[in-house]
Amino acid sequence: MCGIVGYYGNKEAYPIIIKGLKRLEYRGYDSAGIALMNHSVRVYKCKGKVSELEEITKDKDISGNIGLGHTRWATHGEPSNVNAHPHVSMNSLFVVIHNGIIENYNRLRTELEAEDYIFKSETDTEVLANLIEYVYIKLNISPDEAVRIALTKVIGAYGILVVCNEHPDTIIAARKGSPLVIGKGHGEYFFASDATPIIEYTNSVIYLNDNDIAIVNKKGLHIRDIRNIEQTVKVQKIDIEIDAIEKGGFDHYMLKEIFEQPKAITDTCRGRLNYYDKTLKLGGLHQVIDALTKTERIIIVACGTSWHAGLVGEFLFEEFARIPVEVEYASEFRYRNPIINPGDVVIAISQSGETADTLAAIQLAKEHRALVLGICNVVGSSIPRETDAGVYTHAGPEIGVASTKAFTAQVTVLTMMAMLTGAKNKALTDKEHNALIDELALIPEKINSILAKAEEIKKIAEIYKDATNALYLGRGYLYPVALEGALKLKEISYIHAEGYPAAEMKHGPIALIDEKMPVIVLATVDKSYEKVVNNIQEVKARKGIVIAIVTEGDTTIRTMADHVIEVPYSDFALAPLLTVIPLQLLSYYIAVMRGCNVDQPRNLAKSVTVE
Ligand code: GLU
Repeated sequence: MCGIVGYYGNKEAYPIIIKGLKRLEYRGYDSAGIALMNHSVRVYKCKGKVSELEEITKDKDISGNIGLGHTRWATHGEPSNVNAHPHVSMNSLFVVIHNGIIENYNRLRTELEAEDYIFKSETDTEVLANLIEYVYIKLNISPDEAVRIALTKVIGAYGILVVCNEHPDTIIAARKGSPLVIGKGHGEYFFASDATPIIEYTNSVIYLNDNDIAIVNKKGLHIRDIRNIEQTVKVQKIDIEIDAIEKGGFDHYMLKEIFEQPKAITDTCRGRLNYYDKTLKLGGLHQVIDALTKTERIIIVACGTSWHAGLVGEFLFEEFARIPVEVEYASEFRYRNPIINPGDVVIAISQSGETADTLAAIQLAKEHRALVLGICNVVGSSIPRETDAGVYTHAGPEIGVASTKAFTAQVTVLTMMAMLTGAKNKALTDKEHNALIDELALIPEKINSILAKAEEIKKIAEIYKDATNALYLGRGYLYPVALEGALKLKEISYIHAEGYPAAEMKHGPIALIDEKMPVIVLATVDKSYEKVVNNIQEVKARKGIVIAIVTEGDTTIRTMADHVIEVPYSDFALAPLLTVIPLQLLSYYIAVMRGCNVDQPRNLAKSVTVE
């Protein structure tokens, strides 16, 4: 899950790599390191953030026009100076940074130890560095050939950058399962886990495919695959504004991204929903819409917040298109020997498009000849390339580790997909379809009116910032929102929180209710409104504290709840897009008041590229 940055060119590599690492710190931040090259390689690394790396390199020689940098999210070996990347091979010939997991590292390590290799760290990455060196010495071949042959012995996932002390004018990059992008400038090359460190220098990028090995040296860039077959270098143009990856005056990326949601939804609908002539087009589904309309089953696979969006998708597809939907955690699905039939449609949802478990679930679905669709935010990432078709969310880069605008953009895409499918298979009448288009058009403005209540929500956060537990309740469309609200609170404020279907409260969580525990109830007007009001009464009867998210003008719940946060009325199916907003803000303010690092919560990383 770590961040990888590399530079090859005429400029000083250090500032480019440090800046790039800071952009990628959302991917992991338990240790950082850099390797710089002139005639030989110098390596600096430490436990902690990139700022600590800057501290330890203050009085060091940081010159060099070629370099590699890494910000780690530990999988093998605790965060420590010695486990930090780059890893140097035993005889100091190779320097490696790595994102991913070498699954057979133990066996490889034992084999190398039998060849008198001594290891300094506990990481799987050091095994790779030593394996490459071992092959290089033993076969007396070029460094890139040594990398290629070493990788044929590796099981697992990797995005790697490698330099060799005996060939200090070459960078070798390879990937399988973990992302790697190469930016092409004028006589210079940039390497990174995603395009954000690259876009201020060039918009020409090359996405490496799985099993590709790229070599950059004085002759330029060449790509071969692991079978040693020459590959064509495909340069693509990307279109990301630099402002989109800066904080833009907000204290945190998360707050900026919460406030960007009206725009994210507008951008996601742009060119797809036409409010005037009431048409809906999803270009990415053009070839597959018939199959989607006729399918007897949809399986949605995702992880984390995307899984919550998937649950909303289940309600949407079942209601609008009357197609049965199952929502699966990708990590469970892939190992469960699930029943997947050739006519099934599998929809994979992932903000980054790199989520390892979701990618594996896609492979499995393809093996069973299901039609596989993707909903992703990062253009050109692995999932859109692995799926048969799909729809991008246009939320813009999401840097805050706690996902906010990606969630609402995913729900927007699922809404449009379900509407399109329902309109085609006639489960949705024209009248219903057109009314939904009108409703969707109003969502960004309605979100703006909720964002305007940020100060009001901050005051509630102040009261409950020291809570140790919280319960989130919702029914129907609002049940996934309850799960998402609880997840937001847990991940950034470290308060234990549970999301529950409101009616299930009686089967357990009610035992937890006391005068100290806030219960956040999603209680906007919908089919279950009366029932939710009863649930609020049940909480109050046990002296619980109720924070209710209600529809504007609700007078009933105001008399019962300790706090109410009003959101505008919307079609029930679109309520998740509104009701999640106050929950995001509540978690954000609570976390800030508790002194937590909301953009980089402990132990988490943004895109989970390891299983
Ligand atoms: N498996 C490697 C380690 O633990 C790399 C993890 C990562 O992707 O950050 O050091």
